[in-house]
Amino acid sequence: MQGVTSNDFSSARGTPRHDLESSSAATVSAAPGTGPAPADLLRRLRARGAADPVTHVERVPARAGVPAPWPSWAPAELRAAFTRRGVVAPWQHQAEAANLAYEGQHVVVATGTASGKSLAYQLPALATLLADPRATVLYLAPTKALAADQLRAVSALELEGVRPACYDGDTPRTEREWIRRHSRFVLTNPDMLHHGILPGHAQWSGFLRRLAYVVIDECHTYRGVFGSHVAHVLRRLRRQCARFGATPVFVLASATSGDPATAAGRLTGLPVTAVTEDASPRGGVTFALWEPPLLPPDSSASTPVPPQATGEHDELHQVRRSALRETADLLADTVAEGVRTLAFVRSRKGAEVVATNARRALDDAVPGLGDRVAAYRGGYLREERRELERALLHGDLLGLASTNALELGVDLVGLDAVLICGYPGTRASLWQQAGRAGRSGQEALAVLVARDDPLDTYLVHHPEAIFGAPVEATVLDPANPYVLAPQLACAAVEAPLTPADLALFGEGAKEAVDELVAAGALRQRPTGWYWRHRERPEVDLRGEGGAPVAVVESSTGRLLGTVDGGSSHFLLHSGAVYLHQGVSYVVDHLDLADGCALVRAEEPDWSTHARDVTDLSVVSVRSYVDAGPVGMFLGEVDVTSQVVSYQRRRIATGEVIDTRPLDLPARELRTVAVWFTLSPQSLALAGVQPADVPGALHAAEHAAIGLLPLMATCDRWDIGGLSTALHPDTEAPTVFVYDGHPGGAGFAERAYGTAAAWLRATRDAIAECGCEAGCPSCVQSPKCGNGNNPLSKPDAIRVLDVVLANLPD
Ligand SMILES: [Zn+2]
Ligand SMILES: [Zn+2]
Repeated sequence: MQGVTSNDFSSARGTPRHDLESSSAATVSAAPGTGPAPADLLRRLRARGAADPVTHVERVPARAGVPAPWPSWAPAELRAAFTRRGVVAPWQHQAEAANLAYEGQHVVVATGTASGKSLAYQLPALATLLADPRATVLYLAPTKALAADQLRAVSALELEGVRPACYDGDTPRTEREWIRRHSRFVLTNPDMLHHGILPGHAQWSGFLRRLAYVVIDECHTYRGVFGSHVAHVLRRLRRQCARFGATPVFVLASATSGDPATAAGRLTGLPVTAVTEDASPRGGVTFALWEPPLLPPDSSASTPVPPQATGEHDELHQVRRSALRETADLLADTVAEGVRTLAFVRSRKGAEVVATNARRALDDAVPGLGDRVAAYRGGYLREERRELERALLHGDLLGLASTNALELGVDLVGLDAVLICGYPGTRASLWQQAGRAGRSGQEALAVLVARDDPLDTYLVHHPEAIFGAPVEATVLDPANPYVLAPQLACAAVEAPLTPADLALFGEGAKEAVDELVAAGALRQRPTGWYWRHRERPEVDLRGEGGAPVAVVESSTGRLLGTVDGGSSHFLLHSGAVYLHQGVSYVVDHLDLADGCALVRAEEPDWSTHARDVTDLSVVSVRSYVDAGPVGMFLGEVDVTSQVVSYQRRRIATGEVIDTRPLDLPARELRTVAVWFTLSPQSLALAGVQPADVPGALHAAEHAAIGLLPLMATCDRWDIGGLSTALHPDTEAPTVFVYDGHPGGAGFAERAYGTAAAWLRATRDAIAECGCEAGCPSCVQSPKCGNGNNPLSKPDAIRVLDVVLANLPD
């Protein structure tokens, strides 16, 4: 990889010097619109290299908003309050959702970033509070910061008698009673509802009895195991309300996603109507998808690859130019053009690499120009953030590389370009980041730079997956027995469970209650099931699978946070680089007996990647599709895995430094998996030689895991996989993909439900990657337990073709 270093920043140098000077002079005056138009800028950026890295350009046109009249039921006082805050009239989608909610329908509004979703729930909720002086509203946000934001917004309306208040872990004891008795708009989070409000329901009876609306903001964040827990906390809330005679209307706000009505329905257990047509105005964006070029096979490897080698070494060395380098170049080039640019980079270290490289390239071109690029690290003080905003606004600073820590508290408007280094994982985050570009009435440029990852590869070749109708759905699985049983125990403490409650808690509730009885936790009496113990069960909504591991800074003894037991082997093994709120730590020692990891603050220029070995057995089949030579299954499996080693990789280049062994015990996981089998005959017929079957299945498995986040909001780290040419339980060549959480989290289930679309995307991602024999952008996986060996890219395509030819759509 060193072979290309000399060319890395040639582009900024290649720009005529007088251009640099004139454009930078112009921006010092901060006159708006001095930079080139987005289309011209993009043309110049893509003309630098030999091959055009742009795979697609989407012109997202500016949209005029569609206003709607204020609903007739909205009192004049409320309209006047909104008008004072600058809201002249609601947009169509806000009015539509507000009307549905006011009529008593549960509704989810799933529209884009900054489309004003809060008005959709504030309008019916506040109108009701004004019309009925007894009514109350409960607002739930995933974070305290968001609740505090909402509190400011509602307080600013200065409505008589609403008395909005935050009730969370930070609320002083002395204020809590006042809030319970007098606030009619309580803002909190699911953890507080679970740990504080529901167990203390007697003190909240006045509030709950009069509860008219439950608002669930950012409801797409309630996914996976956490989402499944929150789903039951909401059922417990509905049960307490029902005991007091209240049936509140649920109003949910979600990022745009596939099928928001179903996700909201699963979360609340209620029928929910979705409003998805965004009628808010937006500026036009030229959105480019950018794929860094493949580098020639590494010529600088220290040990030459013998000619008779299988080719695996060559494959491992064929990589794309790193997204960080590509982003640094783009940042240097846009800044040189006088364009105010923000680059989003996943890690803080990565953001620094981008800023440093861009600065160096600019200083090479015009000494001093590099000073106009900075890296933004989280944790700045408020004054420092304001200073940064000011510098960008005035053009003293033109380029900023940041993690998404920027979402927390820096208000940047009027950027001309946004560079997104690697798909941020969900469309919601992608649009949130792209949405930073554009000042009023002006076109902006957004560039998504693909990383070495199958999903990124797929997306830059399938723009419809980004710009078309969303398919990624928020999934959760309230029937997960590892979630259901502890939640039923919590419910039983709050009030004895009755047969009617079993329907409320849904599928699996009866079995879970029977198990709790058998375990001695519940006792059945004629009036219901009673909690038998004196103390409450300890249930952590965000934890799972064993006791959480505490992350402790050795020098200070400070507790930085906790990591659930299931992930601790991967994230906190000795030598692991652990990121906490953007700050990097190195783990000195993981003490499993004490449940703690001792860490020290350090920012090495490498990242660590744990590897595990896995064994899997099928426990039961829940559902299957018999498609001739192909079978598709959903069921329970037992997974035994052991983290055995970790790799260290250079952050800037992705180059592997070394692999180090680990000595950690094996762990057992009962979870949900999706798997497919193929007959050996069908594989032979498709031209897959028996010796290549393991590599074919293994490559298909890696890519399938990489593409699942397209269908469900999960991270590839939420899922695991296993492939084998002959599995003892299926007696056939098989690829398994399983939820990495005890009891399942809904990911495998979603994969099963969208199997044809999921595997079609997987096949296309592999086929469309320009590499010859497989690379990290298609079939290699950063968490492979087998060191990405064996892998056969062409045979993986054949395997998936056989599956797709037989599987019904
Ligand atoms: Zn590839
Ligand atoms: Zn693997």
